[in-house]
Amino acid sequence: DRLREGLSKTKKNFTEKVESLLKSFRQIDDDLFEELEEVLVLSDVGVKTSQKIIENLKERVKKEKILNPQDVKELLKEEMLNIINLENKLSEKYPLIILMVGVNGVGKTTSIGKIANLLKSNGRKVLIAAADTFRAAAAEQLEIWAKRVGCDIIKHVEGSDPAAVVFDGIQAMRARKADVLIVDTAGRLHTKKNLVEELKKIDRVINQQMPEASKETLLVIDATTGQNALNQAKEFNHAVNISGIVLTKLDGTAKGGIVISICDELKIPVKFVGVGEKIDDLQQFNAKEFVDALFE
Ligand code: GDP
Repeated sequence: DRLREGLSKTKKNFTEKVESLLKSFRQIDDDLFEELEEVLVLSDVGVKTSQKIIENLKERVKKEKILNPQDVKELLKEEMLNIINLENKLSEKYPLIILMVGVNGVGKTTSIGKIANLLKSNGRKVLIAAADTFRAAAAEQLEIWAKRVGCDIIKHVEGSDPAAVVFDGIQAMRARKADVLIVDTAGRLHTKKNLVEELKKIDRVINQQMPEASKETLLVIDATTGQNALNQAKEFNHAVNISGIVLTKLDGTAKGGIVISICDELKIPVKFVGVGEKIDDLQQFNAKEFVDALFE
């Protein structure tokens, strides 16, 4: 399937190396662990997380009296699953307002379109609010996606107040009895203060206009940037409360290990992964499926 296909580069870089490494050892010793740690780090699992995984493996090998290097693979899989198995599902309480944040170029617009499409095909009525009023092109791109999906979009002229777009979005949501409002926001991390203020104002509007709505704030990051994506996530997480990650472009990268790094260091669940440019190329993240796809 698409996930397996999407992970093929990561598999080459990670799983195949793990397998040949384990095959080359006749016993489990410190050298094996050292080399395994290196494979993890090189697959963007991150130094901290890799060390933690290795420590856990060492302990378990000792405790469970494991002698065969081949058996380490299953343990590694379990350790990875433990780390990424967070609350990965998007809220199913409606009305639902989803704020999408992330820097430009990571695939935010595309992900909004894909998520709208996914929810729509699940029978939900979806509206999009173009609250990235900073770039005219952002609203235009989003409009193309809205047409493709077949859902309505609320937009204002360039430079207008993002919170006003959200206000109108919520009125439209009530009037048209929509289940979900997906809000695009400006991708300007370098002006963090502005972004925080902007999101605070949007929050106030939501709390006033639709206090009963459940809310998700999804951060979109680009898997091909590896540890950079982790740093972006850290910065955003300091500024706003992120409820989930959308990890894009997993198809083009060998850096799929970044999923493990993010979940471990930030304890934020990955909720969606992007595995291509088309409308269907988005998957609801499932931790078990992910490690299975990675290891089998
Ligand atoms: P934005 O600036 O964050 O809104 O980014 P866009 O949504 O415009 O996407 C930037 C580029 O990344 C476009 O060429 C998209 O087609 C591409 N893209 C987005 N998501 C994915 C993905 O999951 N896989 C691949 N291969 N490309 C993607």
